Amino acid sequence: MSDVADSVLQVADEWAIRFDGVSKRYASGEAGKGPAAVHDLNLDVRPHEVLVLVGPSGCGKSTTMRMANRLVEPTSGRILLEGDDVTDVDPVQLRRRMGYVIQNVGLFPHRTVAQNVATVPKLLGWDRKRTRDRVDELLALVGLEPSRYAKRYPHELSGGERQRVGVARALATDPPVLLMDEPFGAVDPVGRRRLQTEFARIQRELGTTVMLVTHDIDEAVRMADRVAVLSEGAHIEQLAPPLEIVAHPATDRVADLVGRGRTARLMSLGRLERADLEDDEAGTVVDGPHVELGTDLGDVLDHLVDEDRGGVGVPVWENGQAIGRVTGQSVLRALRRLADEGRTGEQEPLALADDEAATA
Ligand code: ADP
Repeated sequence: MSDVADSVLQVADEWAIRFDGVSKRYASGEAGKGPAAVHDLNLDVRPHEVLVLVGPSGCGKSTTMRMANRLVEPTSGRILLEGDDVTDVDPVQLRRRMGYVIQNVGLFPHRTVAQNVATVPKLLGWDRKRTRDRVDELLALVGLEPSRYAKRYPHELSGGERQRVGVARALATDPPVLLMDEPFGAVDPVGRRRLQTEFARIQRELGTTVMLVTHDIDEAVRMADRVAVLSEGAHIEQLAPPLEIVAHPATDRVADLVGRGRTARLMSLGRLERADLEDDEAGTVVDGPHVELGTDLGDVLDHLVDEDRGGVGVPVWENGQAIGRVTGQSVLRALRRLADEGRTGEQEPLALADDEAATA
């Protein structure tokens, strides 16, 4: 193998999808004279990560995602999927390599749940047994018991259940990449939270590379390994792990998006660690109210509100043993620790701003 081919392969290991100077200008009423929906986007989605695109309505999130599976064709630039230029791949083949989940799913209303999930296997000519086994496996994976759900029709499902079927259908042929456009948008807040948690489990289990679009910053920080905050024209304001986005917004626009709930979001991202504790009760075995090491800080605060009437703190347990106490002070300490971690966290190579790109 030549050195060049070798280095291309090495590079390909570091990303599953690459947007390379991609722009999209819709040829609309103004003969394409308006601002580009996506302007010179450079962005890598790494293998096995969940990359979330978040930003205000109209900033170009969906356009970006749809260009990846060629529902929308870029005006210029290249999009690479695991080394292949997507414009060289037949769109039907391409979509088999990329599952796609959208809000309100678009299930076929006159087909059962099983038939919906079996859509792509059927296109691929799988035999009945293989298809049925796969459908059962997928329904179980997304938490829908096959014997109860396989024969139902979409109108016999709740919004959350429909969304689960949508995820199962998108995963039918185990695609390496999953594109998700506001996938939980139509589900009520409680159901959404549950779907997010379950989806995170499924994604870890399968190792699927996910690019997810949302306008909801909470969903972004909860789901993402990395968050790309976009502004108009799909301009990348910041690309970083959730903690860094929340603790240290890089621009005013990111700060606006993270907004007033910053500390609350830090609390949902952070967990109680040994370094946060007062250690004067270490080693004692206690009964009664306590919290486990590793509890998320929001839950720790709930315990303090409920159980710490005297202000002395609540015992913290690890493996059935008290290892210290958590107090209001320790929660503050933990939040500061998180903010510092965000500051020293891995700095992502930001996509170059236009003027930098021009001189690069
Ligand atoms: P988002 O997903 O962030 O809400 P979109 O990618 O849907 O943003 O849209 C980005 C911009 O492109 C918006 O100004 C929108 O009006 C425009 N746009 C989207 N789709 C089309 C289309 N099919 N024709 C013309 N303009 C479009």
